[in-house]
Amino acid sequence: MKFVCSVCGKTYGADELVISCSCGGYLKLAFPFQTLKKKDIVTSDHSLWRYEKALPFPKSEIFASLGEGMTPLVQAKLNGVSLLFKTDYVMPTGSFKDRGAVMVINYLKKHGAARIVNDSSGNAAASYAGYCAVAELACDIFVPADTSDGKLTQIEMYGARVTKVPGTRDDVTIAAKKAAEESKGTAIYANHSWHPLFLQGTKTLAYEIWEQMGWDVPDNVIVPFGGGSSLIGLYYGFSELLSAGEITNIPRLYAIQSQNCNPLYAIYIGKEDSAQCLPTLAEGLALAKPVKRYEACDIVRKTKGAVEVVSEEEIVTGLRLAAKVGFYVEPTTAVAIAGTIRLLQNKVIQADEKTVVLLTGSGLKATDKIASVMKS
Ligand SMILES: *Cc1c(COP(=O)(O)O)cnc(C)c1O
Ligand SMILES: [Zn+2]
Repeated sequence: MKFVCSVCGKTYGADELVISCSCGGYLKLAFPFQTLKKKDIVTSDHSLWRYEKALPFPKSEIFASLGEGMTPLVQAKLNGVSLLFKTDYVMPTGSFKDRGAVMVINYLKKHGAARIVNDSSGNAAASYAGYCAVAELACDIFVPADTSDGKLTQIEMYGARVTKVPGTRDDVTIAAKKAAEESKGTAIYANHSWHPLFLQGTKTLAYEIWEQMGWDVPDNVIVPFGGGSSLIGLYYGFSELLSAGEITNIPRLYAIQSQNCNPLYAIYIGKEDSAQCLPTLAEGLALAKPVKRYEACDIVRKTKGAVEVVSEEEIVTGLRLAAKVGFYVEPTTAVAIAGTIRLLQNKVIQADEKTVVLLTGSGLKATDKIASVMKS
């Protein structure tokens, strides 16, 4: 396993434990991996490890698993239109982030890390903390000072150490990186938006959708977009299946953002200067400059998908519509529901096409927030 810089092409060995290139660029895995064929699936395993042939290491070499993956693909109607919902909000720690975290944490444990550092106050932190608990790794989470205590309970229950940092979101990142640097190699900064192995986990979304649809792919896949790990992971997974000869086309991929925080949309419509990142109910998507934004925009274009934005009111409507058909998801996830409705209304996607909507995170973690929105 080797990593290569997305900007300058410099390569790094797997045991160097770096997360970005000396030039500042993000790292990608140097392909190719072994291709997975239908016959390679370990059918006796009912987690994402059934696709271990396509993963960076086999299940026999890992330290921590919570049975992640193989979430139900559920058919339900939104406004009378039949859709398929990939219910990743039922993952072990309550979000799709477990797919990526299980790869990153096991990789770092395997290569001798003692302590993991991440900056996040949400699902990525909960997921890292959960897998670190199982892998018996120390975990340091840096969060903005105004993060509500409620959100931190899950992270602290898993035994992670939480440090609140005053200032901007960038200050939190700087503090996390500094803590890792000052540890002289014992603590590893492993932010989920940067770490190249995170996408090796999220790509299993594509494998599962393919298998759960009876070795077929949908016409469209719709995801909420923050840093792009679900979108880019889906693209990697479908691309591998295409090159393995198991599918004949890649679905159109749609990325949905909040109007209030729209950096990908701004790039997509050719008005990058108009990007803004104001507070939004979709807190999991509030990234002003996602590091992989250009790659994500290229992927949307290559697959003939689209980027769409939704208002705060549409997000609330999306939450209600999801609950009406049994899905108790968080506001961030409702962005994808609201986006699906918009894409249908604008005839960008059609009611008779096969469309999969990714349900990324559980409402059970955000009940306070959902309650206050429903009262207003
Ligand atoms: C992190 C997160 C997202 C955004 O995912 P990206 O991979 O960053 O685009 C969406 N929904 C939920 C619930 C999340 O936790
Ligand atoms: Zn570089």
